[in-house]
Amino acid sequence: MEDTFREQSHRRLNPLTGDWVLVSPHRTKRPWQGAVESLPVTERPRYDPTCYLCPRNQRAGGVRNPDYPSTFVFENDFAALKKDVPAARLDVENKGLLVAETEQGICRVMCFSPRHDLTLGSMEVGEIEEVIRTWTAQSKELASIAGIRHVQIFENRGEMMGASNPHPHCQIWATGTVPEAPSRELIGQQKYLASHSACLLCDYVAIEQKENERLVAANEGFVAMVPFWAVWPFEILVAARRHLVSFPELDRREQSQLSAILKQVVSTYDRVFDVPFPYSMGFHQSPSDGAPHPEWHFHAHFYPPLLRSATVRKFMVGFEMLGTPQRDITPELAAERLRSLANA
Ligand SMILES: [Zn+2]
Ligand SMILES: [Zn+2]
Ligand SMILES: [Zn+2]
Repeated sequence: MEDTFREQSHRRLNPLTGDWVLVSPHRTKRPWQGAVESLPVTERPRYDPTCYLCPRNQRAGGVRNPDYPSTFVFENDFAALKKDVPAARLDVENKGLLVAETEQGICRVMCFSPRHDLTLGSMEVGEIEEVIRTWTAQSKELASIAGIRHVQIFENRGEMMGASNPHPHCQIWATGTVPEAPSRELIGQQKYLASHSACLLCDYVAIEQKENERLVAANEGFVAMVPFWAVWPFEILVAARRHLVSFPELDRREQSQLSAILKQVVSTYDRVFDVPFPYSMGFHQSPSDGAPHPEWHFHAHFYPPLLRSATVRKFMVGFEMLGTPQRDITPELAAERLRSLANA
């Protein structure tokens, strides 16, 4: 990359979404040179009698969890979406101004492990493989339900991200429409395929490997990098090397390679400020709308909010809310920092 883009303010395009991000490298003080405050490490027990996700405990509404040995999936007791909502559309005075549509869906919660104290960073690769097999089964099952067009698997980790329970778990929301973020990425990938006769993320991963500036970790099946267009300070994109559209297409070896890279990414994050790194992460699979999706490339996003320390987070306010998201530390410097910790 030319020095101009290491030193001068500039904007970068996210080709997946069409969004731009403003980069201001001249404002950068390398964030890890700031004070690293040490937060008290709270040891979590293997089993917490007050946790509604631990085996054998009672959830709100009175249901008791089974004594599950590995992963465990249940319908969210406070689901944001419901099945069998009658189809209806509102458009006041037909001006396209006050528009609403009913939305149906299924919201599930999935525990990664019966152990209250584990995380994707501290679980064994074999245990994460079991998590991936459950993600695969859930993706297949939900995608086959009539009226479901998208399956979103996501994990919110840490109180900063609004996670209400530290027990290792994620949510799975299956919806009747393709949500905002993936539907914009669908358009981006379709446009690229149409104009280049190639897959956007296959081409992107090839360039990232050549440039070798933003890679954080890699194995035979997957690559983790701070994307060129990252908005969050330590954002990571994990992409499959092979052109796959969804979990069910992963073979046994890829399941194990994905487990290894997820463990590596999360444990690397935990070393940045020596705290369990908060983040929202999730997988983007092709829509399950019955159509073929040659443009879609299976990937995961990690969006962590921390900027300078365990407590100083990035806020999307001011110009970012009203104009364009902005960052000071360049994606290249963030990747350099993460890479050094990934191999530490
Ligand atoms: Zn628990
Ligand atoms: Zn591809
Ligand atoms: Zn995506």
